[in-house]
Amino acid sequence: MTNKPSVLVTGASTGIGAVYAERFARRGHDLVLVARNAERLETLATQLRSETGVDVDVVPADLTDAQDLSRIEKRLREDARIGVLVNNAGTSIPRGFLEQDGDDISRLIALNVTAVTRLAHAAAPRFARSGEGVIINVASVVGLAPEMGATVYGATKAFVLFLSQGLNIELASNGVYIQAVLPAATRTEIWDHVGVDVNTLAGVMEVGDLVDAALVGYDRREQVTIPPLPDAAQWASLDAARQAMLPNFAQSEPARRYRSAA
Ligand code: NAP
Repeated sequence: MTNKPSVLVTGASTGIGAVYAERFARRGHDLVLVARNAERLETLATQLRSETGVDVDVVPADLTDAQDLSRIEKRLREDARIGVLVNNAGTSIPRGFLEQDGDDISRLIALNVTAVTRLAHAAAPRFARSGEGVIINVASVVGLAPEMGATVYGATKAFVLFLSQGLNIELASNGVYIQAVLPAATRTEIWDHVGVDVNTLAGVMEVGDLVDAALVGYDRREQVTIPPLPDAAQWASLDAARQAMLPNFAQSEPARRYRSAA
């Protein structure tokens, strides 16, 4: 038990989530670890308890299952020790849109979109009432890049980026900080799930490096952190171009270029 807020990490059994759990434990935060694989969570919890002395609670849950999701929502609503939510659990599915199975697409959206949104929605009111709290949403650079050929996955991650940006606008004045983290290819098991040998890819980041960079952005209270992007000005100019359009959207007439069929 520490006086720092506890951190609830989803998808903590492996990959990026397991490293977030380890890094927050080393910073002295108690943890609540969520994923489906209870055995892996227990192994990580035992290791972190003995190496760091923090309290670690293991809560196995399938976030695509309505009852499991509502158990985790309840925990976020009621456990006042939890001050940081790491909305990390996510997956991808193989093949292109024409070959993908409809049920697989639904499960992907349930995990990457619905669970992320519901968990943020469960935590945010308590955070806003207390005047502090953090939500870290793990998105992806694929959400900026339809060219990368993972259309539905990328669309879920574009949603997570938008959700994070919108929540910052809604909640910053209540003291709640939301960070969107956009990794590019990172060496984790997610690649096995899409049938890609990660060793055939160029420019793959090690998972420890990815999370350490994301935590630099977190400590700086960045709203959008893109660990592999060398030049921050590129993100700033994309965001500025978007914002420059906003005053032009309120028009009583269609734009001149749409007023004739020619
Ligand atoms: P990973 O190694 O496959 O780990 C995914 C984690 O999510 C695991 O702990 C898994 O645990 C959990 N999970 C999967 N389905 C779940 C479910 N239905 N309910 C609860 N937990 C579930 O993937 P990762 O690369 O660490 O991915 C973490 C996040 O980073 C994801 O949101 C991913 O989209 C994003 N990301 C990854 C990369 C990359 O290249 N690795 C790049 C950009 C973004 P269980 O199997 O035990 O449930």
